[in-house]
Amino acid sequence: MITDRRAALAGLSASLGTLLASARPIAAAVPPIAILAGKLTQGGWARGQMANGSSLKLDGAPVPVDRSGGFFIAFDRDAGPSAMLAGTAASGSTTTLPLTIAPRQWQIEHINLPMRPGALPDEEFLRRRAAELAQINAARAQNRPSEGWRQAMTWPLTGRLSGRFGSQRIYRGMAASYHSGLDIARPAGVPFAAPADGVVVLAAVQAFTLEGHLLLIDHGMGLNSAFLHCSALNVGVGDTVRQGQAIGRVGMTGRATGPHLHWSIKWRAAKLDPLLFLGAMPTG
Ligand SMILES: [Zn+2]
Repeated sequence: MITDRRAALAGLSASLGTLLASARPIAAAVPPIAILAGKLTQGGWARGQMANGSSLKLDGAPVPVDRSGGFFIAFDRDAGPSAMLAGTAASGSTTTLPLTIAPRQWQIEHINLPMRPGALPDEEFLRRRAAELAQINAARAQNRPSEGWRQAMTWPLTGRLSGRFGSQRIYRGMAASYHSGLDIARPAGVPFAAPADGVVVLAAVQAFTLEGHLLLIDHGMGLNSAFLHCSALNVGVGDTVRQGQAIGRVGMTGRATGPHLHWSIKWRAAKLDPLLFLGAMPTG
């Protein structure tokens, strides 16, 4: 009986050894890609890890990977139901990780009125706007080294949420553009803080026509935050900011109907929902 058990154990050990031996070369050849944190949904994001010394693509577009194999990806408000991560090892072997992107129910308001045509923009506005958009695009195109993308973001300000990301009005079938950020209503002059570390890439000292005094923070890896309608800015272009640092004050400069902080987050061209980066709003 003892001999039988010994024989069985020896057999088991041998087959385990064969399994490990056959598993090892495959594991070494295929770079593993893992999602470590995030919200795989429209307007959401993910942080992940992959084998070092390899390249990564999301739906065919290259994604930067840091020295330790860390990466950040995100999904636009109107992203489709699936995405594909594809990694290539230094050896040339590839692996894929299919992602399912959950759809959201956006707050849609149907208004039984024609869309307001608004005053025709005059030449002066168009000229100023073109210059402002050029500044915004140039700022977003910078890729400043920052580790902010690794952090769990914190609320820049607490208060009543007066506008949600993705909400949209439809005027007799004509869809207006959706709301691209999170609005937090507080009186003008209340300070707000950086939600994560970053580098200031734009500080509109002269108020922009729509955004007013605008602050753009680069969190690294293509992730950035925009803060609109400020009454004051505490930081300037090139400054490094730390999570929790007061960077400006709430206001209603530019096109705003009342004092509030409008906070938008983008990863490259993808517009993201700030609420998906945050925990519950702190009380008090
Ligand atoms: Zn807003």
